[in-house]
Amino acid sequence: MHQKKMSIRDLAGCKINEFEQKMYDNLSPYDWDDIYLSFKEEMIMFHNAVHLLKNTPEDKLPTIGDCEPRQYLPVMKTLERVYDSIKRLEALPKNSTQTPREKVPINLKLKEFAKRQGIHLIGFTTLEPAWVFPSSDNWTYPQTHQPIRYNNVVSLGMEMSHEIFNINHFPDVETLFEALHTYAKLGEAVEKITEFIRELGYRARGHHPYAGDFLYSAHAVKAGVGQLGANGMVLTQKYGPRQRFAAITTDAPIKVTEPRNLGVDDLCYKCMRCVTTCPAGALATGKINWRGTLKWKLNHKRCWNYFIANNACGLCLIVCPWNKEDSWYHRLVATGVSWSGLFRRMVLAIDNIFYWRSATTNPRNIKMKSKEGPLSFAAMLKIMGKENQKGDLNKSLT
Ligand code: SF4
Ligand code: SF4
Repeated sequence: MHQKKMSIRDLAGCKINEFEQKMYDNLSPYDWDDIYLSFKEEMIMFHNAVHLLKNTPEDKLPTIGDCEPRQYLPVMKTLERVYDSIKRLEALPKNSTQTPREKVPINLKLKEFAKRQGIHLIGFTTLEPAWVFPSSDNWTYPQTHQPIRYNNVVSLGMEMSHEIFNINHFPDVETLFEALHTYAKLGEAVEKITEFIRELGYRARGHHPYAGDFLYSAHAVKAGVGQLGANGMVLTQKYGPRQRFAAITTDAPIKVTEPRNLGVDDLCYKCMRCVTTCPAGALATGKINWRGTLKWKLNHKRCWNYFIANNACGLCLIVCPWNKEDSWYHRLVATGVSWSGLFRRMVLAIDNIFYWRSATTNPRNIKMKSKEGPLSFAAMLKIMGKENQKGDLNKSLT
C-alpha cells in the first residue's frame, strides 16, 4: 500500500509543511502508514524538546524566537515529565508476583483508588480489536509498539481546567500548556493505578495519554464514560468536551459499564455551534459513514493545518455549551439534557443569550482568528527541529 518504509531517522528535521503535505495528500480511511507518520513527526518534535532540556544546562538554553528560557522552561519541563512517565510505564513489569486475592470484579476498588490519584472519570469495557492500531515501525515512539495482551480495558479521564478552557479565553499557549500538564498528571496517575492492579495480583499494562496503541476516546464511549459530539470529542456529563483520556489493559475481573445516551446526538443537531465556529471548516453538519460506522467525523487535514498555522486552536472545545464549570446546577442541567428534547432546546436558547452572545460581542473575547502567544508554537517546533539536526538522534533516544 505504501511506497517506502520510513524510519524515525528519515524524518529528523523534516519541515512540518512538507510532512503534512505528504500525510494529507495521501490520506484515505485505511491509509494507516500515513497516520503513523503523523504521530512520528509529533513524537520527534517531542523528543527534540526533551533531548534539548536533558542535555543542556539551564543557563545555556537558547532563546527560541523571542522567547527566553525562563519563559518556555515550564512547558519544556512538563514535556520532560510526560516523556519520563511514558518511559517508566513502558519499563514496568506486566506480570504480578502476587496471587489474585479475589475473583470478583474490582470496579469499586479501582474507582476509589483512581479517585485518590486525581482521576475524574472512569469506565470499564473490553478491547475492540478494530480500534487497536496495527503494529508499525516504532510509531508510538518514545513508547515501543507491543501487542496488547489483556482484553479488559479501564478507561480513565482527567478534567482540564475550566479557568483556562472557557468561552472567554481564546486558545493560546496557556491552553496548550494546560493540555500538556493534564497529560503529565494523567500519565502519572496511570502509572500508580497500573501498579495498584498488579498489587492486587493481576496483570496490567498502563497506556499513557500522550502515547498508546489504541483509540482511547472510542473505548471511553464504549465504556459509557461519554458520547461522541459533533466536534469529534467525547462529551461527558460533568465536563462536556474538557478532558483527556488514557487507559489500562488488564486481566483483572471487571464488570463492564455500558454505553450511555446522554442526549448528545440530539443536542449537537440542535446546536451546531462548534461546526459554525470552526475557522477551518473541519467539522460537518451531520454524521458520515466512516469505516463502516455512522459517526461525527472531523476533517483532520483542515483542522491540523489551521492549528499549526495559528499556534493553537480548540475553539470547538471552548465554545461548546456543555463546557461549563462542574457545579450542582450544571449537573442538574446535564441530567435534564439526557432526558428531554424540549429541555435541550430550552437550555440551548438560554445558553445562547447568557454565554454565547455575551462572549461573541465582547471585543476582548473570541475574535475567531489567531493570536500570537508569548511563545509561538510553530516557532518552537521549528527551532526544536533545527536543534535536532545538530545532534545524533539515535544516540539520544535513550
Ligand atoms: S481545533 Fe479548531 S480547527 Fe480543529 S476542528 Fe476544532 S475549531 Fe476546527
Ligand atoms: S458545540 Fe454544540 S454541536 Fe458542537 S459538540 Fe458541543 S453541543 Fe455538540
